Amino acid sequence: MQTNFRRRIFVFLLVAQGVLVIALAITLGRINNDAEVTLTERLLSANASESAEAIRSHLEPAEAIVDLTADLLTASDLEDAALENAFSEALQRTPQISGVFLASPDGDFFFVNREDEGFSRKLTNVDGAQRTTVIDLFDESGNRTDSFEDPTDTYDPTGRPWFIEAVDVETNSIWTEPYVFFTSQQLGITSARAVTRDTGLAGVVGVDVELGALSDFLAELNRGNEGGTVLVDELGNVIAHPNSELLREPEGDGFRPVSIAEFGDTYAQSAAALLLDEMVGVDEGVIDFFDEDQGESKVAFESVELGEVTWTLAVYAPSDSIVSELVDARGRERSVAAIVGLIGILLAGVIMYPATRDIDELAESASTDELTGLANRRTIMSEASALARGTGSRAIALIDIDYFKQVNTEHGHPAGDEVLRVLSAKISNALPVGASVGRIDGEEFLVLLPDHDSAAAEAAAEHLRQVIGAEPVTFANRDIDITISVGIAATTKQSSQEALVRAADLALREAKASGRDTVVVSSETGRTPSAA
Ligand code: GH3
Ligand code: MG
Ligand code: MG
Repeated sequence: MQTNFRRRIFVFLLVAQGVLVIALAITLGRINNDAEVTLTERLLSANASESAEAIRSHLEPAEAIVDLTADLLTASDLEDAALENAFSEALQRTPQISGVFLASPDGDFFFVNREDEGFSRKLTNVDGAQRTTVIDLFDESGNRTDSFEDPTDTYDPTGRPWFIEAVDVETNSIWTEPYVFFTSQQLGITSARAVTRDTGLAGVVGVDVELGALSDFLAELNRGNEGGTVLVDELGNVIAHPNSELLREPEGDGFRPVSIAEFGDTYAQSAAALLLDEMVGVDEGVIDFFDEDQGESKVAFESVELGEVTWTLAVYAPSDSIVSELVDARGRERSVAAIVGLIGILLAGVIMYPATRDIDELAESASTDELTGLANRRTIMSEASALARGTGSRAIALIDIDYFKQVNTEHGHPAGDEVLRVLSAKISNALPVGASVGRIDGEEFLVLLPDHDSAAAEAAAEHLRQVIGAEPVTFANRDIDITISVGIAATTKQSSQEALVRAADLALREAKASGRDTVVVSSETGRTPSAA
């Protein structure tokens, strides 16, 4: 009886292990992928709102200085010395601003400006047609290092953008659009507020912020983001971008600000374009867009509200770069999982191969008789049950060795064993086609004869009896004569294994009683003794 349980179990275990590893990898991949998208968007919008907040707090001191000074001056004029003190103090304490000034409607101008080292003060006094401009230079500790008159100065503060806007708005501070500072030729924005008294406009206070400095600040905030950040005003002018060189374009002898539509960083352009085209709103969260160079990307918009103006900050990055470390980690995780899975399969193989070695033998021994190699009692009895439940002519034959006890007594137990082995082989070889045999007890055998009526069964049994009786079994150079008795039960009706075996057993007892070495067919189906 050939079983291949081992191979089946082995293959099953390996396939199961493999499927498990793959399923796990796929599930992990899905979970990670979802987590990545969520994390990416959270990081981006967190970055945008934090950056917007940082920009607000970065610029609020400028507004505060403007408001404070304007409030003071609304009450009364300040001495030049007091004003200079206040202004230079403000410059020292607020590194993000580059200049503080006060202009009066008649063209007087008081301006304290940050220089590479220390600061300068410009004082223009207009008295009718009379106009004087004195410039003083101070070192970092506030000591005057130079002082000179500038007769060529023609600067008229009342024509500057901040002056016009502040007077226009009147009560609140304003932020200008980006423009080129007169003195430094740097691009910047100005917060300014009109000083109004009962007598009318007394002047305009202003604070300058250079866009280069704001951009450096933004670059600092944006460090680690593989994408970029851009801050645009309501008209689409770029106010800040980590690369401040892109913020201005040469024009005439100087420069002009640049709008996002013509901006040199095409990635920033494609990110902000969504907003400029009014395709999306600032508060729509994180938006997907496609950039020709950077591919699938995400952008988060955040508004930066300062006084009267609202700017928009766009923080953007390639979708897969934002959590690049996470992606890298996931890659490593996958390799590890693959290796671990492979090792698992190999280990499973190494462990299971020897572990399954006995399975086939086990299966075999569970169904066969150890001594004779025939089907054992359990196996042949269950086959007998199936046969009994079947239809048509069918029979069983119960075989018992005659005087077997004597074989053991005369020749020894090993001789008895040998007789059992030899007999089993003889029976197996002499069985008709379709029949099967099992050892059901010490020296008792059950033969199943499908498609045999009682006559055919009797003939088959008779043949067996003759084959066995024909020649002795030789053991230890001694011949042992062996005969068998056979009881047959045949049926064509619905029956059971128990009924058939009982009938066969009765027939067998009859055979024994009638002198042995004979075949008896159960009386239920007619008795035909055939004596030796
Ligand atoms: P009978 O003709 O009436 O059947 O006489 P018998 O001696 O064969 O009587 P019985 O069936 O009672 O005896 C069976 C004997 O078979 C008993 C036991 O010693 C012997 N036997 C049973 N199994 C084995 C076995 O595996 N090996 C050997 N050597 N002997 C066995
Ligand atoms: Mg017996
Ligand atoms: Mg016997």
